Amino acid sequence: MDIEEFRRAGYLAVDRICDYYASLSNLPVSAQVSPGFLSRSIPASPPDSPEPWSSIDSDYHSVIMPGITHWQHPNFYGYFPCNASFPGMIADLYCASISNPGFNWSVSPSVTELEISMMDWVGRMLGLGEQWLSEGGEEKAGGGVILGSASEVALTVAIAARERCIGILAEEHPMPKDVSEEKRSSEGQEESLDADQDVASEGKSAAQVGQDSTLSANTTVAQWRASLTSKLVIYGTTQTHSIAAKAALILGLDFRALPVAAPHYSLDAETLSAAIEEDKSHGRIPFLLIATIGTTSSGATDDLSSLITVTRSHPTLWLHIDAAYAGVCLSLPEFRGSMHLDAINAATGVDSFSTNLHKWGLVQFDCSPLFVRDRGDLSRALTITPTYLRTKHGDAGNVLDLRNLQISLGRRFRSLKVWFVLRAYGVSGFQHHLRSTMKLANHFEALVRKEGEEGMFEIVAPPRWALVVFRITPPGSKERGESEELDRLNRMFWDDLQELSAEFVLTQTSLPEVGFCIRFVVGSPQTRTEHVEATWRRIKETASKTWSRFNQ
Ligand code: PLP
Repeated sequence: MDIEEFRRAGYLAVDRICDYYASLSNLPVSAQVSPGFLSRSIPASPPDSPEPWSSIDSDYHSVIMPGITHWQHPNFYGYFPCNASFPGMIADLYCASISNPGFNWSVSPSVTELEISMMDWVGRMLGLGEQWLSEGGEEKAGGGVILGSASEVALTVAIAARERCIGILAEEHPMPKDVSEEKRSSEGQEESLDADQDVASEGKSAAQVGQDSTLSANTTVAQWRASLTSKLVIYGTTQTHSIAAKAALILGLDFRALPVAAPHYSLDAETLSAAIEEDKSHGRIPFLLIATIGTTSSGATDDLSSLITVTRSHPTLWLHIDAAYAGVCLSLPEFRGSMHLDAINAATGVDSFSTNLHKWGLVQFDCSPLFVRDRGDLSRALTITPTYLRTKHGDAGNVLDLRNLQISLGRRFRSLKVWFVLRAYGVSGFQHHLRSTMKLANHFEALVRKEGEEGMFEIVAPPRWALVVFRITPPGSKERGESEELDRLNRMFWDDLQELSAEFVLTQTSLPEVGFCIRFVVGSPQTRTEHVEATWRRIKETASKTWSRFNQ
């Protein structure tokens, strides 16, 4: 494809995207295909000769699109939203055109510098204090990086927390003397250590030294680390997203899901303290708590104001806040109290915070800003600088090389779409999007409640954000709580609802003391009152159908 062909193909693609958005509401929301449908439509091997663009573009529409579930559809109420916006799309197109891996400042200074600025923009929009921003701290520089997902954030934070914890423990359980004095075997490694020291000027922890020595295949150091890491525990609750269990799985650590009770499903200081004391009495070491603002199943928020009193008294314990879905609501002043912004901004207690702008924040996938109070915690855990990555500015320590704050080396230029979106919408447009989608969810809640008075529907958790969790109950019955009968009824209801996946998408979950239930989330900027009301009518009809089937 040459420049002129690209110009024509690009204009055509933009036209088609516009047509797609104009006709979105007429498409089946969920892909109506069977497993394996695609492999039957495309050849088993790539073509030997170039193909004309017209046939490639036409196959995108005829072969790929039927297998796409339209997350931007006004009737997509499943999972959490995955917003897209036109300014963000243009940013991604520009990014693709300058494709570069942005790992060091010098490989594309704008990529690093815009990301630092956008982290500060987003932080200020969310009301995060200066200590969370890149220029905020006097001794410690806050800020952070934009990663691809809340899962990647959890893993990155777990690594940083582990290294910080081992660093603290190393003071009590020093590395064996013969190991700490051991000479490193290769020149390359020595070089990398020197470079680390120069670059970061943020120091090197005892844990990092241990890690580097591990590279020289010294098993004693590995054993020393293993003796500490085998005792580390990650805490969350039964409502924490599986990102916490996954981070634990990847790192070979334990995840402890603490119980939380209906209807608020919120972790408090008492439960956490009891678990910590119990673990400590068995020689285990608390090193990471993943608290949530806006859980997936019910939108619950852990009691951060009380949890920070616990994390403060356990220096090895890092508190990360996963606000993947609801974190964007910190941009709304009326939500800041219930979202514990004071606790987040308190002088100590919370170590990291993350939200996904790619959920409800108008920036299309992927975009997970990770804020840390001390970015040295990330760089001490993740910096390795072989000769081929050294640069003049990096060695001089006068630039931030973002590879040192993340797992991978190369990185996407995600900040461009944040810049375009925040400028095109302004904070007021961003806030309007959140408030108007919440208003639609409130409308849905009112419809469910009204019907519930007559007996067939129950809201099972306090509605939060733009999420309403409900189930059906036998008409006229006052039976509530968890029961096999209610579960069976609602699983049948769910099966019936799934038959309507071309019309709308909902998702299911299960809550302690409730059981099986249905989630309804508004998030698409395309959704209007009439969509919500039409969907509600179909949900009601389906409930009656399920009830008849249940009684057959
Ligand atoms: N945390 C919460 C509260 C979520 O709801 C989700 C996804 O819905 C995640 C984390 C995982 O997000 P990601 O896909 O970015 O890893």
